[in-house]
Amino acid sequence: MKLRPFLKSACLFAISTILSCAVSALAQDASTAPELLRPDSRFKADMLVVVAHEDDEVMIAGYLAKLAQDEHKRIAVVYVTNGDGGGNAVGNEAGAALGQERQMEARRALGSIGIENVWFLNQHDTPNQNVLFSLGHWDHGYVLGALVRLVRITRPDVLLTWFPDPVSGENHADHQASSVVAVEAFDEAGDETKFPEQLSPAKSRTGMSNLTEGLLPWQAQKLYFFTDAYEVFTPYWYDAKKQSPFRKNLGEGAGPSFEVTAVSPSRHMSYAQIAADEQTYYMTQEGQLGVDAIKGKNFKTFAFPVRLIFGKSLVGGSVTGDVFEGVKAEGVRFRPVRGYAAEQKQGVTLEMGDPWRFYSLFWKAHDLDRMAGLIPVPEMEADYGEWLNIGLRACNYTDKDAVIELSAALPGGWVDHAQYKRYPVRAGECYPVTAMVSARSSGDEKWEELAWSATEEARKAGSVTVRVFVGKVGSMPR
Ligand SMILES: [Zn+2]
Repeated sequence: MKLRPFLKSACLFAISTILSCAVSALAQDASTAPELLRPDSRFKADMLVVVAHEDDEVMIAGYLAKLAQDEHKRIAVVYVTNGDGGGNAVGNEAGAALGQERQMEARRALGSIGIENVWFLNQHDTPNQNVLFSLGHWDHGYVLGALVRLVRITRPDVLLTWFPDPVSGENHADHQASSVVAVEAFDEAGDETKFPEQLSPAKSRTGMSNLTEGLLPWQAQKLYFFTDAYEVFTPYWYDAKKQSPFRKNLGEGAGPSFEVTAVSPSRHMSYAQIAADEQTYYMTQEGQLGVDAIKGKNFKTFAFPVRLIFGKSLVGGSVTGDVFEGVKAEGVRFRPVRGYAAEQKQGVTLEMGDPWRFYSLFWKAHDLDRMAGLIPVPEMEADYGEWLNIGLRACNYTDKDAVIELSAALPGGWVDHAQYKRYPVRAGECYPVTAMVSARSSGDEKWEELAWSATEEARKAGSVTVRVFVGKVGSMPR
């Protein structure tokens, strides 16, 4: 190696200097390749938030503002849909045009709480409550690939997304679907066999027409969820003193929580007020709520605590501890999940159908076993007189054909609209059954239990139970 005269003189001072100069000199050698570039640090995130619609983050906006503006964490947000299925509170723009406006609202809203890295995956907003309807209406494969790419670009330590389980509450299927793809991306971004074209080095980095992407695999460390159905609809969220007729708050003890009544040291206002301000950017949606709160200096509507639900961690930490507890700055190696394994069942049974069946398999496959205990009995809600369609499966795991007879046990005032009672089920198959019932048309708001049981040749062959909250509960298509 031949040192240039300047480097020779500069390198005579100390051993440490000589060592660093040797490295510099190495870089000067025309036969040595330049140092490999690192991933673009402008897009590194400490936390990646994956949600469905532009404005989904409002209910955790105070918490995100605390992280971004007071703790200087790098937060990035992905919206899977354009929100093009929603209404417009202030203009005539609808459909795709509304979707464009909602994207801009989201950029401005997140900018107000210090978040600049925002991505949109441009799927259609699909108002309904069955996660599989949303995944079917979206391009699931495209969304997963795009999200894996964004995990590899942003390299988050923590991923925060909606709650992957049907709940009584708003229960928007797009929320659940964004969560499903977020969980899949958490588990796949570190796997070099998944979307390998993203990982293959560019043929000519500074040239044109590169067909591969030059990313590195990335394993996020911790996964958290949030939900808008902790208790029930807004009157119960927004007024802590109002007695909720609902079940125990889903978020209680299930993860860290954050009181938004605290004051932000950098913004000099409560995090509830920051959330109200963030809401004002969404005038096509519920921005007026934020405007009214600021005008009246009353932030009660935004003062409910932010409760996160612990999903899983590859680096330990407690369920209710800080989301960054245990995070390793140097990152972690890829950790494969258990994956899907076919179930071994016997006899003739009655089971919940989709989406509950899907989730029971999905949680196991993605090492989210604790999810099954959070809502142990499937739950729904019904407005007075509303019709519900509930997916069941009459299954015959024996080696001979069977006829399975179903009967419903419904509370007073409910009506069973079943078309058939008996189902011929071939050996080794399951017959998908849609149980159709309508809720009572009046009475108290309260939980009720619906049950279906199966018999085969007069022998009991299993049953399922669903809890339904009956009351004035909203208009989301079910
Ligand atoms: Zn939403």
